Amino acid sequence: MTNSSSLAFADEDVRGFGMCIGGKARVLRPTSTEQLADAFAAVAKDGGSLALRGAGCSYGDAATKNGGQVLDLTRMNQILGFDPATGVATVEPGVTVRDLWRRAIGHGYWPRVVSGTMAVSMGGAAAMNIHGKNNFALGSFGECVRSFELLTPRGELVRCTRESDPELFHAAIGGFGMLGCFTKLEIETKRVHSGRLRVWGIVAKDLAHNLQILEDLKDKADYLVSWLDLHGKGPGLGRGLMHRADQFEAGEDPQGLHWFDPVLQDVPPNLFGVVPKGWLWPGMWGAVHLGQVKMVNALKFQAGFKEERNSPYLQSHGAFHFLLDYVPRWQWMTRPGGLIQFQPFVPKEAGERVLRTLIEQNQQAGFVPYLGVLKRHRPDPFLMTHAVDGYSLAMDFAVSMRKSRREALFAHCRKLAEIVLEAGGRFYYAKDAVLAGSSFPRVHGEAAVAKFRALKAKWDPQRLLQTDLATRLGV
Ligand SMILES: Cc1cc2nc3c(=O)[nH]c(=O)nc-3n(C[C@H](O)[C@H](O)[C@H](O)COP(=O)(O)OP(=O)(O)OC[C@H]3O[C@@H](n4cnc5c(N)ncnc54)[C@H](O)[C@@H]3O)c2cc1C
Repeated sequence: MTNSSSLAFADEDVRGFGMCIGGKARVLRPTSTEQLADAFAAVAKDGGSLALRGAGCSYGDAATKNGGQVLDLTRMNQILGFDPATGVATVEPGVTVRDLWRRAIGHGYWPRVVSGTMAVSMGGAAAMNIHGKNNFALGSFGECVRSFELLTPRGELVRCTRESDPELFHAAIGGFGMLGCFTKLEIETKRVHSGRLRVWGIVAKDLAHNLQILEDLKDKADYLVSWLDLHGKGPGLGRGLMHRADQFEAGEDPQGLHWFDPVLQDVPPNLFGVVPKGWLWPGMWGAVHLGQVKMVNALKFQAGFKEERNSPYLQSHGAFHFLLDYVPRWQWMTRPGGLIQFQPFVPKEAGERVLRTLIEQNQQAGFVPYLGVLKRHRPDPFLMTHAVDGYSLAMDFAVSMRKSRREALFAHCRKLAEIVLEAGGRFYYAKDAVLAGSSFPRVHGEAAVAKFRALKAKWDPQRLLQTDLATRLGV
């Protein structure tokens, strides 16, 4: 019988995407369900615990285990099947969003829900129940999962659909890796009739205008997302540039069929065909560290008027969705301190008041995020859901190396969290690093948390699956 010390765990530095959270851990990369089951059994026998990790794109501590053991699923990365008649893919958990669209697009399909980076794995996407720029229309990632296989800490391999076991289906999806490990998923993609989207840039003069555009277009547009200049004050508070993108109907864009070629959807390695994009982040480092974000934002906002005049224009699906991937390692611009993202979800009725207060409080406290992204959402049926009928505002804060300044930033975010929770808002653990354990039942309600804890006790009685996030929240 294997014990955990005889498994080939290697010492590594395991951090969240924001780089400021995590630390040394012992990492194992299984390549099959059998190896995964062996690791579960061996660690359980030793009374230890494990964190599951996909591509490590969660900003905070959702996939870290400081000083502990981590199972990295990225080597279980086979697409086991793709049905061109239905667009349903059968995948292992380490398959990425990029792998999926590359397989689908040649057949005229695109994933229904994608994140802002294509590096995310299917296991991580299901465990966090990710959302895209179309959350208001098509819902969350879990809504396009047809079935999954889950290896539970008890050692059972459970095949689950929303009909066969609705309770487990709706708790494991969005259950941040607490109930078992997805080993196989069936994922629905959607038909597209062109490899391109029709895109509009729309200047929003302030927060109210931004929210009004979301309300006016949410029943018409396929995708909506707004960049916000969080330095904007007075009449310009919450100003930004909204992007609307629509798919083409069949036959509307015959030339767009050429763009079913995955090479044309991918991110080019060089800027203007010459400059390696890996060299761009040092320039952005200067903007963050030399206080130039305010000026860059003002220029970007002004440039929005030209984009609006030139709208609509055509963009590949890849270019529209994965803008952040255009600058490899962009997060390094926040080195050495790294970054945290804080993404509150606020019900529609309280949206303008709460988001205005958050933006003002940032400015008053001297913690102005270098990036703000506004989206429209709709509720979903998952137990640990972060969605609301309302808005989210993702705010990226650079973290200082100075301990006092870092602690002040975290305390500031916790203060913002109070305002959000008071208004009935929620949080998204892929983007959280600061919430106190006492907030966990306030995000989901006492009843939902009690149910989740009962499911944890049922499927993981030894508490084999643990992460730094789970410890922080007291799951
Ligand atoms: C640049 C950038 C842009 C992003 N944009 C968006 C966005 O637009 N929308 C959005 O919703 N999110 C977005 N995210 C967040 C990202 O989608 C989530 O953090 C997602 O969960 C990351 O997937 P991952 O494979 O990296 O998983 P990880 O971050 O490695 O893990 C996430 C969680 O999944 C669990 N897990 C991983 N694999 C499995 C498995 N096989 N079985 C069970 N549990 C597992 C882990 O324990 C952990 O709790 C973005 C992140 C980045 C870096």
